[in-house]
Amino acid sequence: MPELPEVETTVRGLARFLEGERITRVAVNRPDLRRPFPPDLVQALTGATVTALGRRAKYGLIHTDRDSTMVFHLGMSGRWRIDPGTLGKHDHLVIETADHFFALNDARRFGSIDLIETARLGEWPQFAALGPEPLGDELSPAHLKSALAGRKQAIKLLLLDQRIVAGLGNIYVCEALFRAGIAPARAGGKVSLPALERLVPAIKTVLAESIEDGGSTLRDYARPDGELGYFATRFDVYGRAGQACRCGGTVERVAQGGRSSWFCPDCQK
Ligand SMILES: [Zn+2]
Repeated sequence: MPELPEVETTVRGLARFLEGERITRVAVNRPDLRRPFPPDLVQALTGATVTALGRRAKYGLIHTDRDSTMVFHLGMSGRWRIDPGTLGKHDHLVIETADHFFALNDARRFGSIDLIETARLGEWPQFAALGPEPLGDELSPAHLKSALAGRKQAIKLLLLDQRIVAGLGNIYVCEALFRAGIAPARAGGKVSLPALERLVPAIKTVLAESIEDGGSTLRDYARPDGELGYFATRFDVYGRAGQACRCGGTVERVAQGGRSSWFCPDCQK
């Protein structure tokens, strides 16, 4: 599943080809993904110029000069293909500029496309309750200290709560907790300030390293230029149950909130 680094990588890849370009053609090849395409999508985007690209949590933002922004979510299997030789059956949305051709491919169709008035993006229901971006200055030990105060729920689950931090997924929460030496089951309110002072830079560096790698992935994610396949190689604990931790201990897996957490009981307290 594309996580924040994959979305960021996608946005940066698309920006290289789309920023400042006029959209000459838009076509949808089916009525919906996870939900219907906006009925005015083709009309709103055809002829518009892309002014900038951005990201909020795991949503990509394509801003236009018509005061509207196309918001995309890659769901479970979505990816943008740039200049594919031929269209595949899962290329559900196509955008063209004078020089390039962009196809949103989504085999499982858990992704989404929305068209939102740019000035009101912050009020959009999916964005209104989001916490700070993990890579921005707003995510600080002080923010986490106050957001977690008195919380009895496990720190692992609280970090997946998008109202506390936006866009963090399972992989990066597991890895950041390992780097910070915090057990995933520890109650959020019991994580000390010194531990949070390790956790915040751990979150930022694990994401930044993954973005630098071009986004990590577990399956068939593709870079936006259509180049296939690059895989997670740098995980310390994620998916490594039973394997050796670098401390000499053994990585374990536990279920939390219906999902797996991987951690080293020797390194994480
Ligand atoms: Zn260890």
